[in-house]
Amino acid sequence: MGENCNGEDMKQRVALKPMDAEQLREYGHKVVDFVADYYKSIESFPVLSQVKPGYLKEILPQSAPNHPEPLEDVLNDLQHKIVPGVTHWQSPNYFAYFPSNSSTAGFLGEMLSAGFNIVGFSWLTSPAATELEVIVMDWLAKMLKLPEQFLSSGNGGGVIQGTASEAVLVALLAARDRTLRRDESVGIDRLVVYGSDQTHSALKKACQIAGIHPKNCRLLPTSSSTNYALNPKVLCETISEDSRTGLCPFFLCATVGTTSSTAVDPLPALGKIAKDSKMWFHVDAAYAGSACICPEYRHYLDGVEEADSFNMNAHKWLLTNFDCSALWVKDSNSLVQALSTNPEFLKNKVSEERLVIDYKDWQVPLGRRFRSLKLWMVMRLYGSENLQNYIRGHIKLAEYFEQLLVGDPRFKVVAPRTFALVCFRLEAPKNSPDNGEKLNRDLLEAVNSSGDIFLSHTVLSGQFILRVAVGAPLTEERHIKAAWKLLQEKATLLLEQDAL
Ligand SMILES: *Cc1c(COP(=O)(O)O)cnc(C)c1O
Repeated sequence: MGENCNGEDMKQRVALKPMDAEQLREYGHKVVDFVADYYKSIESFPVLSQVKPGYLKEILPQSAPNHPEPLEDVLNDLQHKIVPGVTHWQSPNYFAYFPSNSSTAGFLGEMLSAGFNIVGFSWLTSPAATELEVIVMDWLAKMLKLPEQFLSSGNGGGVIQGTASEAVLVALLAARDRTLRRDESVGIDRLVVYGSDQTHSALKKACQIAGIHPKNCRLLPTSSSTNYALNPKVLCETISEDSRTGLCPFFLCATVGTTSSTAVDPLPALGKIAKDSKMWFHVDAAYAGSACICPEYRHYLDGVEEADSFNMNAHKWLLTNFDCSALWVKDSNSLVQALSTNPEFLKNKVSEERLVIDYKDWQVPLGRRFRSLKLWMVMRLYGSENLQNYIRGHIKLAEYFEQLLVGDPRFKVVAPRTFALVCFRLEAPKNSPDNGEKLNRDLLEAVNSSGDIFLSHTVLSGQFILRVAVGAPLTEERHIKAAWKLLQEKATLLLEQDAL
């Protein structure tokens, strides 16, 4: 075996054991150093990765190594081959979609969760995982001033899902089964779901999974006259028509902070309609929920008392590393009735005696991570006052960006700014055949391919629109200034080209 005589190869044979405390300490420090250095230099990378599809296949081997390789080599490849293909969501110049916050506390929570690496599907499999989740979800519910019925003290409670998509899915499944149980003469093909054309596509996907007939998923039209909020009158009329034709309205999804423009649906009016029609009322505040920990923004949740379920993503704007989507329900039993199974191999005394929560019955998968650790770390290491100020800081920066826009007549703010998202466009010259769509697409392409900032777009009332979502933990005023300067420069270039 010639290769055994090779010194380089011998070094590589000092292999990592599957788990060795001292090796973990040594390697762990190196990886933490790598991540800390990454954050230190994060502004030096193009925010939106500029690689071409398939780039990685060309520079990585076609199969896994037979022999162990040193960590140094892997970290070296990470730096030179992987980082170029990373889009830097934590960059202070990241303004696309919605933020997906990382924080020191959230990162440490993730590390601890990886350290224990438990699978907490039932209480027995790690009592602390279930009990801590119950407690931190109550803490967060209190920070949001959610009604008592969402707390664990009564029939309700909170559960951490992976994403808002899973949250709306499990709510829909609970609602579906509750409705079918209530009236056995109703078949699944008569069930109707309501949302708006601004509701996140996760609702439609949930309907596909839950077996709701595609024709019975009503995404009601909104318009600029109601700032893209769901119109209760339109909802009422649609429900009446559906009931008249023998259909069964059973689920209403309202949004606080829609994905396109952060529109807020009128919860009090919608809640009343849901109640009158005996529908399950789900409130999706995936993005804007975080802002509602501030007393001055809490009024956007007025009406949540009428909701059967409420969801916000702590992983978007509340410093909790992905994934951590907080879902509360008023009647946890309806989740359990839709989602529980009880195979022999999982049976145990405390579960049988119904003394505990088994979160496997509140979600789609069996296995679940110890996610409550990171939420706990975030709440303890920052405290609610700091979290509130963190949110306020971003909203101030978004206000500042909006002011800059308003000061330049070439640009137009196209939807009211409610939280930290600004929707705007570059106004097209009068004779523009496509209403400025190409101009704005070109502007987006120009700023994103510069690597200096990353924005995304949406379409509102048929118009192509740019979005600046402020919310990365490292973003400061100077980043907003630089982003605005870049937008202005690129706009000038494009308008000059157009004029030629
Ligand atoms: C981001 C978002 C979602 C989807 O979030 P996931 O957690 O990725 O499923 C759903 N609804 C709204 C309003 C959102 O902003």
